[in-house]
Amino acid sequence: MKAMRETSNASESKPSEEAFNLGALVARRRKEATELWAKTINPQFARVLRTIGFDREWARAEGAYLWDADGNRYLDMLGGFGMFNVGRNNPRIRAALIEALELDLPGSVQMGTTVLPPLLAEALLARTPARLERVLFTSSGTEAIEAAIKLGRAATKRARVISAEHGFHGLTLGSLSVNGCPEFTSRFGPLLPDCERVPFGDLEALERELRREDVAIFLVEPIQGKGVNLPPPGYLEGAQELCRRYDTLFCVDEVQTGLGRTGKLFAFEHWGLEPDMVPVAKSLSGGYVPVGALIMSKAVHEAVFDGMENALSHGSTFAPNELAMAAGLATLHEIDTQKLVERSERLGEMLLELGGRLAARHEVVKEVRGRGLMWAIEFAEPPSGSRTYRAIERIQPGLFAQFVIGPLFSEHRILSQVAGHSMAVIKVLPPLVVSDEDISWLEDALDDSIAKAQRLPRSLTRLALGSLRAFS
Ligand code: PMP
Repeated sequence: MKAMRETSNASESKPSEEAFNLGALVARRRKEATELWAKTINPQFARVLRTIGFDREWARAEGAYLWDADGNRYLDMLGGFGMFNVGRNNPRIRAALIEALELDLPGSVQMGTTVLPPLLAEALLARTPARLERVLFTSSGTEAIEAAIKLGRAATKRARVISAEHGFHGLTLGSLSVNGCPEFTSRFGPLLPDCERVPFGDLEALERELRREDVAIFLVEPIQGKGVNLPPPGYLEGAQELCRRYDTLFCVDEVQTGLGRTGKLFAFEHWGLEPDMVPVAKSLSGGYVPVGALIMSKAVHEAVFDGMENALSHGSTFAPNELAMAAGLATLHEIDTQKLVERSERLGEMLLELGGRLAARHEVVKEVRGRGLMWAIEFAEPPSGSRTYRAIERIQPGLFAQFVIGPLFSEHRILSQVAGHSMAVIKVLPPLVVSDEDISWLEDALDDSIAKAQRLPRSLTRLALGSLRAFS
């Protein structure tokens, strides 16, 4: 048996007669967050935060803002990786959750039904094409992908799954098998057999695979999250047509692009698509409760759940849970009433315009791209040449972008991220409630930070590179 370890706060885990007081506990120990995270959860992550200067004591959040313990306000251009579309700590989602708790709902009866799950399913189906008629709830995006692979294989009685290079669909083993980012997959094999990738945007390569008539599913993000790669014109429509021709299920992953992110409720609406399966997750519960769903055609569902003996062929204890369902209903209502889809579309136009201005001002900006509030700025060595840029990129491709998000955070208080491993791309994925002023804040901050990154003095470059190498 493991010996009891002495910890400075061992009393925290001892049984106590006193009532549990969460507020007091957080207030007393909040300062320790990074240190305790390092000790108990992930020391390497804590190292990364410290190295890039992102370690802050976070105190509270509201809408598109975060506050640190010193009362400084930060603009959240990361949106919890796209889970806070309706804004952090949205009061109306919170009220729905409190109400759900106060109603003493039956919760998951398991051998019984309650009304919130089918209500959320109904609300989702009312907002998607007629081809989609059933919803299977999960607790995360990756579980919705796992369900798509598993159900898609059973429904078609085929094994092969085709996905796109650089696609991201989650990190559990099934989803990893269709993940097109080698930096995530390389150490974890063997992965699922019969999962292959084709270049994103290449219809000929896709047809070469589908023509064999043994592909169960073609799985694709309408806009790739890693790098914010937009599909070439005609690609997604062509892919859907090929899928229909060769009886392959067309699965459009809306985990990141869904629920207003790209200026439509679902990104597939931009191209008038009618997929057979649509995984969603992230912001469906307003960022409060784990949630996910696979929205699918009746044909897929009925091929798998084809008799009473198979009524429970797939599922998970906590999905659907009442809190996620209540938050989901409130979130869809919020997106409608606050007109967040329209807002995303309008602010997306502003982002593209500001990108144009930044590209005109800074030679190092190679491209700006996006749709709605999913936006990226990509850097490359200026045509006139830059020794600083070359020196930085020689150490690690994409490192220049790190040098931009540094001052963006520390000097301009904007939280953002590089869009993927080895990519000189900064990605912006804010809550859809950001304001016009916030977008101007981003423009001024990027303008200054891009200029600073290019002027990086030699000594500082060496120092920074040394420390960044530590976690690369
Ligand atoms: N698909 C896409 C397109 C995603 O962006 C993500 C998460 N970033 C996932 C699937 C996996 O979702 P989750 O993190 O909830 O498992």
